[in-house]
Order: sequence, then structure tokens, then C-alpha cells
Amino acid sequence: MTQQRLTERFLRYARTESQSDAAAATVPSTDSQWAFARMLVRDLTAAGATDVHLSDTCVVTAKIPGAGVGPSIGFCSHMDTVDVNLSPTLNPQVTEYTGGDLRLGSTLMRADEHPERAAYVGQTILHTDGTSVLGADDKAGVTAIMEAVAALGGQAPAGDVYVAFVPDEEIGLRGVRTIDFDRFPVDYAYTVDGGELGEVVEVTFNAATATIVIQGVSAHPMNAKGNLVNPITLGMEFASQLDPLETLEHTEGREGYIWCNHIEGNQSTCTLSLSIRDHDRAGYEEKKKRVRSLADELAHAHPRATVTCTIEDVYGNISDAKTPDNAVASQRLRAAMERLGIAIKELDMRGGTDGAWLSNQGIYTPNYFTGAHNFHSIYEFLPVPSLERCYELTLALMRGE
Ligand SMILES: [Zn+2]
Repeated sequence: MTQQRLTERFLRYARTESQSDAAAATVPSTDSQWAFARMLVRDLTAAGATDVHLSDTCVVTAKIPGAGVGPSIGFCSHMDTVDVNLSPTLNPQVTEYTGGDLRLGSTLMRADEHPERAAYVGQTILHTDGTSVLGADDKAGVTAIMEAVAALGGQAPAGDVYVAFVPDEEIGLRGVRTIDFDRFPVDYAYTVDGGELGEVVEVTFNAATATIVIQGVSAHPMNAKGNLVNPITLGMEFASQLDPLETLEHTEGREGYIWCNHIEGNQSTCTLSLSIRDHDRAGYEEKKKRVRSLADELAHAHPRATVTCTIEDVYGNISDAKTPDNAVASQRLRAAMERLGIAIKELDMRGGTDGAWLSNQGIYTPNYFTGAHNFHSIYEFLPVPSLERCYELTLALMRGE
């Protein structure tokens, strides 16, 4: 019965379009997220939550009052689905998986290329039709939280429970940054935005975005010699100074990188965008310093060009925010998983979560599994029994167990 309820809720949420758009300047970045947020406001109200609120940046918050015993705990998931040049409309499929290849519309998901699916033979799995992501990232998290809130029936047995559903996580954690902490006054929180069953994330990257803008000098071919400063040539010179082994494609595990992922130029300007990532704080600061000095050296070598380098911190490593006072968030999560018989799979995430930002604002926020695999891909799938375990864990934590 629980699995059926979870499936129905997930399908309803997944079918409500809410893709975010990195090119938009507003929060939320798309109108579709408003419609999904309003649906969640209605569902939270129907489930008996109080102080249900939709902010002018599309952040949904709500409270389930507790009995005043123990800390206030927050639960956060993101409402947007990722834009990876696939259809924004999701058409999730339900299959009783009996093994072997799986048909995703006109695409075949081969068993030998996806050995991760073998563990779920005999289970109901939710998957795509081959035209989009499934959106389990993070509608599986939203589903588990909503179903647990419904199970509480308007009253939490221990401390107060707060819920936050935020937009625009997939485009640089933009939504969570607009959260009103007066509506999310928690001692610690969890994001429900992880992958396979058992996954726990308390280590993320430190992340920055660097933008290098090179202003050259344009000239007519008749007098270009000695006059023209080609910003594109300078942009390539800058990119060639980056360590060729310290890139996204040459690193794994806990190795950091500097990824030049956008370059655009014309006769007068060239702009480069870099993602700087490192789990280790010192390594992260060193990488930022190195990018700055490469920009300085370029400016020095080409005095007639103007080179500016802007580096913006995007989020920090969750583990740097862990203290003896907030370690209880991690202890409770692990104890609850043990009681439920869920084996813990520790993951040093090569990425960030809304919790990476929250943690650095003073709200320690580990991340745990939704049960889904292959985020950001047409091969994304969600075994329903794993989602059920996510729901059980969420409910246990909300009950202060
Ligand atoms: Zn996510």
C-alpha cells in the first residue's frame, strides 16, 4: 500500500513540469516551477502542516509542530528538474522488472551496459521513456518528505519539523540562497537528494566559478600589424596555461579540478568560464589563487589588453561545517539507518547539494539517498522499494527516532 501511494504521488509530481533554466536571470528561473510549488502548498495544507508559505522567490516552507521534546529538524528537497537538453516534459514509466534489457521508448537500456539494475530484478521500477530524465532528482525526495508529512497527520511527536522545497538547485543552488530562515528555524537539517539506497553524503566539493574577460584592440587589416590585440588568441593562451591533468576528465575521487567549460569571443572581447572544485579547503584556495595569478600574468604580458578575473564562491564542503554541537545530525541519521537495517554507503560527492550552502550558513545538513540511479540522464531510474526505505527513514527522523 505504501509503495502504491509513493508511486502515485511520484508520478503526479514528475508529470508536473518544473525544469530550471540556467540562462534566466530570475529566481525562480521558470514559470513552471510556480505551478509545482502551488501544488505542494495545497498538498502540505491538506496533510495538516501549518505556516505553509510560498515566498516571492518560489520557496515553499511549512511547519509540523512537535511536542517540544528535542531539536527542530528541517527537511529540504529541490523542485526543479535538470536541463540537459532533453525534453522538459517527463513521461515516467512503471515496469515490473524481470531482468534483461529495458525498453525506454525507442531506446534500449542494455543490461550489460547498466549492471546496476541487476540488483532490482523482481521489483517495481520507475524509468523514463527515453526522451527526458525521470526527475527522481529530486521529485523522489519531495515525494518521500510529503508522504512522511502526511503520515505525521499535523503533529510531530518530538521536536518541531520544518520543510523547505526550493527551486533552481540544478543551476547553482540559486533557490536555497533566498530561503527565509525565520520560516526555517532549525537546529539542523537533511537534504533528501541522494542516489542509491543507503547513500549518505557529508562531504561535498568547495566550489567557485571564475569568469575571465579579455578586452582586446580591434583594427582594420590595412593597419593591424602591431596594432591589433586579438582577445581570442589571449583567451587560448590563458586556457593553455591550465594544468592539462587537473581537468574534469582526468580526475576522480577526492582529486580537485579546474574545468574551462565555456569560451566565447569576437574581435574585441573574449570570455572564459571556469569551474573550480576541491574537497580540500587549502587545495581550493590554492586553485583560486592560481587562476587569479594566471590572469595577472596574461595582463602583464599583454599591457594593451584589459584582463579581469572575477571569482565567486558557490558553495562549501559540508564537512567543514561539522562541529561537536551539530554532529548529532549525522549520529541520528546513522542510528536511524542502522535500526531500519539500511547499510550505509558513504559518498564523498563530486558535486554539491543545497545542504552544502545551508551548512555553510550554520545549519548542518547531511544528504541521504532517494534510491534513484543515473541522475541527469535518460537512464535515470527509481526502484520503488528503495523509495519506500527513503520514506521510512524520513518519517523516523521526523519522529525524532
Ligand atoms: Zn538533486
